[in-house]
Amino acid sequence: MKRTLIEVFLAIALIGASVFGWMNWKQNGAAAPQITELKAAAEEAEKTAKTSEDAVKAAEEAVAALREEMAPLESKVQQLEAVKAALANGTTLSDLEAAYKKEKNLSAERQVGLGALRMLTKGANDPATLESFRKALQISDFGNRKNTICAAQIGLAAAGEKVTIMSECLPKGASDKGEKSADKDAKSDGHSKADDKNAKADGKKGGAHAAPHWGYEGEMGPDKWGKEFPTCSKGKSQSPLDIRGPFVKGRIVITTDYKEGALRMVNNGHTIQVNVNPGSKFRIDGIAYDLLQFHFHRPSEEKIDGKPLAMVVHFVHKNAEGKLAVLGVLLKEGNENPGIKTLWANMPKSEGPEVEVEGVKFNPGNLLPKEFDFFSYEGSLTTPPCTEGVRFFILKSTVNVAKEQIAEFPFKLNARPVQAQNGREIVTN
Ligand SMILES: [Zn+2]
Repeated sequence: MKRTLIEVFLAIALIGASVFGWMNWKQNGAAAPQITELKAAAEEAEKTAKTSEDAVKAAEEAVAALREEMAPLESKVQQLEAVKAALANGTTLSDLEAAYKKEKNLSAERQVGLGALRMLTKGANDPATLESFRKALQISDFGNRKNTICAAQIGLAAAGEKVTIMSECLPKGASDKGEKSADKDAKSDGHSKADDKNAKADGKKGGAHAAPHWGYEGEMGPDKWGKEFPTCSKGKSQSPLDIRGPFVKGRIVITTDYKEGALRMVNNGHTIQVNVNPGSKFRIDGIAYDLLQFHFHRPSEEKIDGKPLAMVVHFVHKNAEGKLAVLGVLLKEGNENPGIKTLWANMPKSEGPEVEVEGVKFNPGNLLPKEFDFFSYEGSLTTPPCTEGVRFFILKSTVNVAKEQIAEFPFKLNARPVQAQNGREIVTN
């Protein structure tokens, strides 16, 4: 019981921290380490607890110990209370909602902020609180919004919702706790297998294992994604496709205007991804889409007449209305690719947060072929949550990648199998 209280308190403290950050709270910097400390202490108590009786006893001891450590945190709690009191009349919330109403599609970060503010002012049981966190989860995509996903999942859990909290969101070594308290559906066999693999990959991190949520093989492979992400199995316009005729002739014109910029790379455990600063554009019949990131799959996810190529790079774009468009460039084994040479020389070899490579600039346009003839179809994210409504353009022209460069890519297999076409047209220009 006490343990649950601590968890709820921690979750609220976390939400509070995210509100502080979202409101540009100046003292935010100090809150995060204290919360981490608090969580670590709670986790320590958890580890030593063998039975529920032990758990209560351990929690009591932890609470006593924490009370001392909490003194500095108390002021933060008071600040949180002050924020809560200041926001309690709901005016700020309605102001914010009015401001947001003008925007058609709120970003995941804003949904989390809205959820957190709602939780503080309207309480955790307010349906709109839950809705905000759920929406944030829905639109968090491509593994580059881990903090947002974590905040939304913890927010929902704090509101008493049954929600799977990614182990990445929990303190190191606490993934078992996550499964017990919030991830009742997840079968431990699947996760333990991943833990083994991850423990190996993590190497020196030892006991700390963040189990990946999903993978490309075995118990967490693509045919199991639907258990946790229903769209992956129930969706009717899923990607990738085996691209084969008959094709429909179209008159769509696509152009790219990619700019050189800082090289920000992340190994998210599923792929090597390069996050792109604002300014690079993709246009479909003149409508601008911003390039968000690009990443690689080996072999290519798309097949041409039943055959995959060595690799594919997916350029992910979003327009002002939030619609996603993916430009796919197939990589064929051949000469060395100078762009990939730069990327591979700087990529994080193991999973971790984004790194900005100092002193190196990169232009994503270096990875594009000259010719822009394409196949196009309506599809989905090719990774969980497999959200649909993504427009795909796969270029007919390929670019080269050397055999050694293919071998250097740290993911041997990270391609989702081709999905049923279900009557979708494949358009060519
Ligand atoms: Zn992709």
